[in-house]
Amino acid sequence: MRDGERRWRRVVGTPLGLSAAALVLAVLTLAVLGPVLWGDAATAVDTDDILAGPSAEHWAGTDNLGRDILARVLVATRLSMLLALAAVVIAVTAGLVLGSAPFLLGRRSGRLVSAAVNVAVAFPGLLLALFFAVVFGVGATGAVLAIGLSGAPVFARLTQTLVAGVAARDYVSAARVAGVGRLRVLFRHVLPNIAEPLVVNATIGAGGALLSFAGLSFLGLGVQSPSYDWGRLLYDGAGAVYVNPAAALAPGAAVLVAGLAFNLLGESVAKGFGVPVLGEVRGRRRTGSGDATHQDAAHEAAPETARVTDEAPTAEDVVLDVRDLRVTFPGPSGPVRPVRGVSFSVRRGEAVGIVGESGSGKSLTALAVSRLVDDDGTVEASRLAFLGHDLRTTPTPAERRMLGTNLAMVFQDPMTSFNPTQRIGHQLAEVATTHLGMSRREAMDRAVERLDSVRIDDAVERVRRYPHEFSGGMRQRAMIGMGLMGTPALIVADEPTTALDVTVQQQVLDLLAAIRAADDVALVLISHDVTVVGEVCDRVLVMYAGRIVEELPAADLATAARHPYTRALVAAVPDMATDLEAPLATIAGRPVDPAEVPPGCAYAARCPLADARCRAQDPPLESTAGGRVACWHAGEPLPLLEISRPAEDPAEDLAENLVETP
Ligand code: SF4
Repeated sequence: MRDGERRWRRVVGTPLGLSAAALVLAVLTLAVLGPVLWGDAATAVDTDDILAGPSAEHWAGTDNLGRDILARVLVATRLSMLLALAAVVIAVTAGLVLGSAPFLLGRRSGRLVSAAVNVAVAFPGLLLALFFAVVFGVGATGAVLAIGLSGAPVFARLTQTLVAGVAARDYVSAARVAGVGRLRVLFRHVLPNIAEPLVVNATIGAGGALLSFAGLSFLGLGVQSPSYDWGRLLYDGAGAVYVNPAAALAPGAAVLVAGLAFNLLGESVAKGFGVPVLGEVRGRRRTGSGDATHQDAAHEAAPETARVTDEAPTAEDVVLDVRDLRVTFPGPSGPVRPVRGVSFSVRRGEAVGIVGESGSGKSLTALAVSRLVDDDGTVEASRLAFLGHDLRTTPTPAERRMLGTNLAMVFQDPMTSFNPTQRIGHQLAEVATTHLGMSRREAMDRAVERLDSVRIDDAVERVRRYPHEFSGGMRQRAMIGMGLMGTPALIVADEPTTALDVTVQQQVLDLLAAIRAADDVALVLISHDVTVVGEVCDRVLVMYAGRIVEELPAADLATAARHPYTRALVAAVPDMATDLEAPLATIAGRPVDPAEVPPGCAYAARCPLADARCRAQDPPLESTAGGRVACWHAGEPLPLLEISRPAEDPAEDLAENLVETP
């Protein structure tokens, strides 16, 4: 059974869902057939039988012209539904435009739109509708515009939150790295993935619109005679309520039943499909996958104290050159800086690993290099250059093309690396059609060739499959294949094997190594796993609290590390002598909160060599024979390596201590 079918069965499988679906179907059928079946009865004037009460002939009585009220209520279903539908279309369309604006406009203008939407959401809907009704004038058109526009802020807020959620997905990041424009990303990758919750919420909105029309018509601001909807009939019936209460009760009941039916159906579908309804969604923002968030930060980060002593390499073969990179986010109590002055370079064909615990700033460094830091984050650097192009400025179309074909990104979670609504082949082909000027056919041929090169069997057939039809390892290889659609000079892989099982991890690492060797592609591999980095990379950068604390050749990692933190990371890796029955080793203490970086060396609270100088002065990153290190006691023997092997309560200790284990 297909997934959609299963979910619909879940919706109508509950008594509530089934009743709501049946009622909505009945209302829609009535809207189609009502005027045909009861049109004549609804307009037949009988002056001998005016304002009559309920009888066998007229179940809800007659109005002041002797017309059958029940027939008029049934006929009014069509106009009532059309008006509600039109208002919902206006609300959703305006909401989509306003809600997508922050994604398209960037930080400053986006914030203005968001603030305006927030102010509008704070107004009660009916008040807004009354305001617009006065602006657009009395009548059906004015009422539709008024109710539609008064519903727009709520849909704008919903759209904004949904867009922000999808925009944080890896496949959107991949499209942005590939240089795809924001408008195209919106239409191709974002909107298809928020359509489902929008349609569900529009269904709920239809129920609300029906009630709003009744309210406006009851105030005499809605549909005007001789046209009539349920609201107009309610208005007319209210005038004769003491003579014939059924004249008001019949249209009132119609509004109530139809409104409830749409609301309940929307809620049931939302539950069955697992989509959020208005007010349930929460925004998310990217602060670097795998890294600690900054949102709860209470204090500004300590000012940058590191002094990078070596000069930036200027050799022609430098692919990536990063100097004094800082990434700052606004926090509740002031700016928070999770990356505090990182400098490194990567040469053509070189593999550089960046290791560190969660919150060390390694993933955020990768995002800054790939221009993927959230709009509310600020990226600063004295130099941030890729193939000689400055990444700090807005790229020209030519630079965007260059970035799209030369820089590839592989993300941590293969589940979110691809747009679930599009076939794998189309997503791979996007780079080639956008930047290489290829036709669709040529781009698909290249996609097949690239999938083949990353060892995906039967690539001709696989390009037509959707991401959910691929295994995790295949998706990750396809992601690498997507990076190869251009002619990459650098692949940035952010924890590419964390979500995979051990056998598949090795396949992906082997593939990255093979691509690097074959095409002289540089690799920046972000990982918390020193073993993985030591195996694949030439050089390792160790990060702690947003800074590089040591740089050394990967071959020296196990035997010649000089920084106490690097040595603790290496010592925490299980080896052949490790007791498999004992809990996994961890580094005692917690990593530093980016919002509360202490003065002096950030590692001092966990370091067995720490002394008064360490706690007072931050050690600069000094050049050494093989690399760089930031420590006042680099290379000194450790009196006691602070590796703990928790025995009594492993769960608690693992939470409190550190070094993530895959
Ligand atoms: S500077 Fe001091 S506290 Fe920091 S790592 Fe070196 S010895 Fe430890």
